[in-house]
Amino acid sequence: MKKAFLPFLLTLLLFPLRADEGMWPLSELHKLDLRSKGLQIDSQEIYNPQGVSLIDGIVQLGGCTGSFVSSEGLIVTNHHCAFGAVQAASSQEKDYVSDGFTATSRREEIPAKGYTVRITESYRDVSAQVLKAVKTGMSPLARTKAVEKRIKEIVADAEKKNPGKRAEVAEMFSGKSYVLFLYTYLKDLRLVYVPPRSIGEFAGEDDNWVWPRHTGDFSFLRAYVAPNGEAAEFSDKNIPYKPRKFLKVNPKGVEEGDFTFILGYPGRTYRHMGAAYLSYEEEVRMPTSAQLSESWIAQMEEMSSKNPEAALKLSSRIKGLANGSKNYRGKLAGLQRLGLVKKWREDEKRLQEFILASPERKRLYGSLLQDLENVYSEIRNQSDYTSTLDSLLRSSTLLSTALSLQEAAAERAKPDIERDGPYMDRNFPRLRAGLELSLKNVYLPAEETFLTERLIKAASLPSSQTIPALAPLGKDPDALKAFVSKVIRETRLKDPVFALKLLGQPPELLTKQRDPLLQLAGALYPTYKKLKETRQKQNGELDTLYAKFIDVRMEWMKRDFVPDANSTLRFTYGRIRGYSPRNAVTYEPLTTFAGVVEKTAEKPFYNTPAKAVELWKAKDFGPFASSKLKDIPVAMLYDMDTTGGNSGSPVLDAKGELVGINFDRAWEATVNDYAWSSLYSRSIAVDIRYVLWVTSRVGGANNLLEEMGVTGN
Ligand code: ASP
Repeated sequence: MKKAFLPFLLTLLLFPLRADEGMWPLSELHKLDLRSKGLQIDSQEIYNPQGVSLIDGIVQLGGCTGSFVSSEGLIVTNHHCAFGAVQAASSQEKDYVSDGFTATSRREEIPAKGYTVRITESYRDVSAQVLKAVKTGMSPLARTKAVEKRIKEIVADAEKKNPGKRAEVAEMFSGKSYVLFLYTYLKDLRLVYVPPRSIGEFAGEDDNWVWPRHTGDFSFLRAYVAPNGEAAEFSDKNIPYKPRKFLKVNPKGVEEGDFTFILGYPGRTYRHMGAAYLSYEEEVRMPTSAQLSESWIAQMEEMSSKNPEAALKLSSRIKGLANGSKNYRGKLAGLQRLGLVKKWREDEKRLQEFILASPERKRLYGSLLQDLENVYSEIRNQSDYTSTLDSLLRSSTLLSTALSLQEAAAERAKPDIERDGPYMDRNFPRLRAGLELSLKNVYLPAEETFLTERLIKAASLPSSQTIPALAPLGKDPDALKAFVSKVIRETRLKDPVFALKLLGQPPELLTKQRDPLLQLAGALYPTYKKLKETRQKQNGELDTLYAKFIDVRMEWMKRDFVPDANSTLRFTYGRIRGYSPRNAVTYEPLTTFAGVVEKTAEKPFYNTPAKAVELWKAKDFGPFASSKLKDIPVAMLYDMDTTGGNSGSPVLDAKGELVGINFDRAWEATVNDYAWSSLYSRSIAVDIRYVLWVTSRVGGANNLLEEMGVTGN
């Protein structure tokens, strides 16, 4: 393949930035001439609402994606997607996080607590039904509430008509289009094979969001159902789920230049937002959030280095915060590099000229851009206050649990349809499971330190933003510290059984406990309720404005847009391809185990199992080496359009066979969420050949290869 790349910045000057996004909803597949791009199967084999197709083999797993790879419910996803379950199953005696885990028989598979998978069954447009709830002259708050209520009614009706299925309405374009999805949820997930952390998270945070990459970010789980085939909670009697479709594995993988595609559940992108939003993100929200996360990570790492209990309990939290804050740093660097806010502002200047050029457009959209600007300046002006309130809750699992108990008490007293989503009957068990899991990881010194720090921060807010519940505590840091120590010492919510018993109990019963943390949460509750309403009002304004923004931009650009990612099933295609991140630097698209050996060192995340290195030295590659590279390929790079949520998505070849598991993006591609470009947007997968080599040779789980129909010799 030709490797002549134009230097990055020069190319950016030559080509416009709002390039074609590629996270296609499946209803749009027919618009793409995929055969001419390199696909060798019919697009009906990918998506066929009338029959079985590849999408039936794809699941959403927590915030990630996974795929079935056997008729016995075996699922492959990322190591980092299964991490929470691995952590929950680990103890200091059985450290599956560090050592990995192999179930040598089905009986040994461990429940992945709190995990569910969902399979998309069908979908249809319900925009007209939703928008009928909006009446002219409604206030923004009333609008948001009316839309929320209508969505709940549509969901309730769909679930009634489809027993056993879950319904969900996804907003495709803000304030404009809505799709009702029907899902099957499976609730009994078990860990089957997890590589040691030194493979699954090789090079740790140093290499996160970075290419070249040598991480074996994969794990296997299995889905179980009741003996009658229905979704059920964990039970010994459950049997492996039989998927309608499972993916065929191609153990030969792909090479540079090959056509590939991804099916998955990308989380969120923001490509159709305005410059006012983006500048707020760049100047305020992301830097504030990254800074706080970095400070918490440093303190938790310090705690972990001294205490193995802390290390185990805090590992998931550290990992999540580190992933998010490094992503923000990458995005911030990307926004600077591309000058994106400036570019969007210039675009909007031209858009405004277009608007003003016609009296009709002027009537409809004349003040649109200014109105958007106004909402974001209100959000900006309140940001110190709102981020303090948000981070106060994030600082302490015990406090956020206490607030959930207070909220549950208030919400559960209402009729089901009027409750906030998490407190509705259909979601309540999941809320309980989530609380149970998070309470397991409470580490008191971290709770105390962060909560104190946030209370000190809250005390520094200007008097116009005083939080009533905190005012009586004063501003003296020592007094605040003493207050937090006492509350944490005395609260009984440290006992998860006690805390969960109170979930859903009426307010009087909570008051009766005389628990200091419940009292604090009770006093804070009205403030959080008000904050929520402020946000609902702002969202109502933004929804109306963004609906117009999309309309007028489509008119201006004379084309349709692909909706931003919203955690619904999408398709993206491209090729295995390197890139040039900067002048005179070229990245190749495949790494090999030679690179793992080069980086291996006697320190956490780098200490590759000796067995793997010995096998490699002995050239014991089995059938999994690349004939071109004469080595085991480890990770691969491609120009498909992905974001968070695509973690664990299958990378499929031209025949629709599994060749990799997507897990990350390169540094320059973190800015994808705002602006995708074939120049710098590159995502990263673990190569299926590495998955198979590690699973069979290092993990000894040859049975899994057999189950997937792959010969390991
Ligand atoms: N590694 C990423 C994540 O977990 C996946 C991505 O955003 O591309 O969020």
